[in-house]
Amino acid sequence: MHDMTNHQESLGRVNHKLPGIFIREEGAPAAAAAAITNVAYIIAPPNATDGEVKQEQQQAFKRDANHAAHCSYFRWFTAHKIPHVDSIILTHEHADAVLGLDDVRTVQPFSPTNDIEPTPIYLTEYAMESIAVKFPYLVQKKLKPGQEIRRVAQLDWKIIENDCNKPFVVSGLRIVPLPVMHGEDYVCLGFQFGERYKVAYISDISRFLEPTENYISKDGCQQLDLLILDTLYKKGSHNTHFCFPQTLDAVKRICPKRALLIGMTHEFDHHKDNEFLKDWSQREGIPVELAYDGLRISVDL
Ligand SMILES: [Zn+2]
Repeated sequence: MHDMTNHQESLGRVNHKLPGIFIREEGAPAAAAAAITNVAYIIAPPNATDGEVKQEQQQAFKRDANHAAHCSYFRWFTAHKIPHVDSIILTHEHADAVLGLDDVRTVQPFSPTNDIEPTPIYLTEYAMESIAVKFPYLVQKKLKPGQEIRRVAQLDWKIIENDCNKPFVVSGLRIVPLPVMHGEDYVCLGFQFGERYKVAYISDISRFLEPTENYISKDGCQQLDLLILDTLYKKGSHNTHFCFPQTLDAVKRICPKRALLIGMTHEFDHHKDNEFLKDWSQREGIPVELAYDGLRISVDL
């Protein structure tokens, strides 16, 4: 079983936009991923229970790394006894998804000479080009003549494609990229994972691309067990994110067995709006809730 912990920070949009899911897995190879301030998924090793994870067995991969990544590491990695990150998957290269890359060294083994196994980091070619400008010292392989060694995160950059038909494997878990529009001039990735229990995680979206929607829709290729989807404001629309009306429309069209909403601004009232969603869910036959910090779901991936 996997224990997925969704944690959204609770201070307005900036932090609310930092969705995270821990996935802890018992009875399967260890792996994990994480989100922005945060850890998006962590899959723990066989027989692991909270507080009982053997360090050498534990692996983690995370999705995105923003400027609050450091806080997230302290908060969630210590709570779940995660000693390090095995892999990182980036949704895109906006500041709120990558400014914490520097802090990845916090969860890497200490080496003053940077002589450690680099953490694999999966991203698109486009994101790679942008990050090479933002973080040249994380991309640079060799020191320039006369340059001092400084301890920096050691990353092994791996290019993935904006294509549902180009899955990749991270720590034994097959991940399918789900390209979506995040503003009309920008493609961002969501991800699908899980064979027995199919999860799609889409944190930044303003419009679905047809092949992606088809790929994750009940009327298309498959019915998801869980759709985790962006929703920014309660009313109206936004140029780069879904708001409540578009999110609920999309949930209806895609028709997963369950949906969790993430990325809300503080104008949402968690309990009140979940009451509204309870009625909506009954009417539409799809259980939908607002996610919250520390939400845990046991699933069999
Ligand atoms: Zn963005």
